[in-house]
Amino acid sequence: MKLEIENLTKEFGDLVAVDDVSMTIEDGEFVTFVGPSGCGKTTTLRCVAGLETPSSGTIRIGGTDMTAANPKERGTAFVFQDYALYPHMTARRNMSFALESTDMDSEAIRESVETTAEMLGIREHLDQTPGELSGGQQQRVALGRSIVRDPKIFLLDEPLSNLDAKLRVQMRAELQQLHREIQSTTIYVTHDQEEAMTMSDRVAILDGGKLQQIAPPSVVYSQPANEFVAGFIGSPSMNFLDCTVSSGAVETTAFSLDAPAGSEDAVTLGIRPENITLDHVGGDGDTEATVAVFEQVGSFNIVYLDIDGLDDVVAQVPGAKQFEAGDRVSVTIDTDRIHLFAEDGETVHN
Ligand code: ATP
Repeated sequence: MKLEIENLTKEFGDLVAVDDVSMTIEDGEFVTFVGPSGCGKTTTLRCVAGLETPSSGTIRIGGTDMTAANPKERGTAFVFQDYALYPHMTARRNMSFALESTDMDSEAIRESVETTAEMLGIREHLDQTPGELSGGQQQRVALGRSIVRDPKIFLLDEPLSNLDAKLRVQMRAELQQLHREIQSTTIYVTHDQEEAMTMSDRVAILDGGKLQQIAPPSVVYSQPANEFVAGFIGSPSMNFLDCTVSSGAVETTAFSLDAPAGSEDAVTLGIRPENITLDHVGGDGDTEATVAVFEQVGSFNIVYLDIDGLDDVVAQVPGAKQFEAGDRVSVTIDTDRIHLFAEDGETVHN
């Protein structure tokens, strides 16, 4: 079901946890909230679920104003980071508990629990209690408990953060599969940008309670709305260099590049590490640099450069390209992929 968040603000005393956030999430869409700790992801989600009362703004679900509605009336299901299962109940009872207070008959409840458990691969664990289950199994029970309620909107708050790295990757794929099957509108909160970039139809980036950008993963990556988004998305992070733009040239203290039209206000040049090509000297690059540190990663390598006094410029090169600290290298920058930002951090050119 469609979810509209309009001018949502939530204050805790003097602290503005969510600051005038607006977005529309379409029926069936999977949107991920990312951002640094304390940026307001969970508070926004809790306002949608009705677990927090907004200071101002409107929450509309399926076109109906639900801002003041009881959590139970909203048709949202919230899956918590710590699963919040009842420890003394079996997995089956954890999943069926919320349905028992509805007018659903016990046979229909049993069937719904079994079908969902089957889909989640936990059918043989239904008669165990959470203490007898692994983290991944507990997470599936928590998901199952929300699925059986057939919610209009799934709200998942860092659901995989307590799992080990391998299981997280597996559960990530399972969640995507689940979303394809159920096709419910989903908001997924994570601080793991890889999760956000691989799972979502759109990524919403928050900082300081404000929505910075909401767009498909490829767009937030290649067309960041501002310097914050540009630096937050992508690993290793984008390089930011002070610059001036005049007479058709972007000038840093070490080198200059052709300036894109209309970029005169720019004061910061952004270059992603993979858009820097390195060769042993002798090539006709844009400038020369000294390799400060060479990190062998495997399929690619990370090179920290000193470009004429500009320290810590990071380049990402193919795994086959080998350098050593102290090497002189020629540096070529893909000028079609540079980013320029104004004094206030807004993007001047992508
Ligand atoms: P994290 O990634 O660390 O979970 P988050 O982006 O989900 O962070 P929120 O939990 O939404 O951030 O918190 C936003 C801000 O609001 C934080 O500064 C937090 O300390 C504050 N905050 C959240 N809940 C409350 C509360 N009940 N009372 C007072 N302050 C709160």
